[in-house]
Amino acid sequence: MVAPPPPMPAPQVILDPKNLPAHPSQTQCPSCHQFITTEIITKVGTVTWLACIMSAMLGCVAGCCFIPFCISNFKDIIHQCPKCRTKIHTIPKL
Ligand SMILES: [Zn+2]
Repeated sequence: MVAPPPPMPAPQVILDPKNLPAHPSQTQCPSCHQFITTEIITKVGTVTWLACIMSAMLGCVAGCCFIPFCISNFKDIIHQCPKCRTKIHTIPKL
């Protein structure tokens, strides 16, 4: 009896940029058509500053630990192709 080999965890390639999650993911670049793992850029926007102010106010009540949590969660997330630097998809916050 030979045990069947364990199934290989197939890397999930996300072909629809709208379905990209908020972390580096495998997809096909719409510009250079290569299968790549996206680079993540976070962009500080107006919302980040609002979140910063709000978390500062919350921080008076709930403690400083809320501040970095809110800031990192209120940035726009941009998926970028590491080969041709095309911005594939932006996940805006709010
Ligand atoms: Zn590309």
